[in-house]
Amino acid sequence: MSGQLKYKNKFIKKNVLEKRLKSFAAMRAGRIAKRIKASASSNNVSGRRIVELDTLADNLECHKCGKELSLKNIVDETHSGLNSILHIVCCQCSELTKVSTGKTHTTENNHKHSDINTKVVFGAIHSGIGCVGLNKLLSCLSIPTISEDLYKQYESEIAPVLEEVAKESSEKAAEEERPVGSKTS
Ligand SMILES: [Zn+2]
Repeated sequence: MSGQLKYKNKFIKKNVLEKRLKSFAAMRAGRIAKRIKASASSNNVSGRRIVELDTLADNLECHKCGKELSLKNIVDETHSGLNSILHIVCCQCSELTKVSTGKTHTTENNHKHSDINTKVVFGAIHSGIGCVGLNKLLSCLSIPTISEDLYKQYESEIAPVLEEVAKESSEKAAEEERPVGSKTS
């Protein structure tokens, strides 16, 4: 039976199969376009983000087919503080890939923390603006804010470092105040 193929115990003419495959591909392409169009009008992914350019560039790749992903095809976003996970549809295979905008690290207590959150909380403490001040600043910049609970989690990560710095600076101050010539024991 030339020109015929067997599929699921049924014979299919090769040209019929090719036609079907062609219309299937067209349908799929239509679905992808529809999904992207729908997401563009419904998703509220806007504003500003603080991203690590090299990390984001490396992550912009479809996990299924390897095609480079476009920021125009973001359909959703989840974030933990300032670290965003962008949900991007692949224009080639329509698969969804979750793209992180920054690096993470593991804390001493084995928690996975985002670098950006650790740094921003450290900055808020260092500058003295705290969680409330930080969120006011972020809001003005249209950058997602950080919840008080999450802020506290990151604060506890850097607390030992801050204590060490405070101890060192008080020791240095005491050293400077000590009269010249007096011996330390
Ligand atoms: Zn793909």
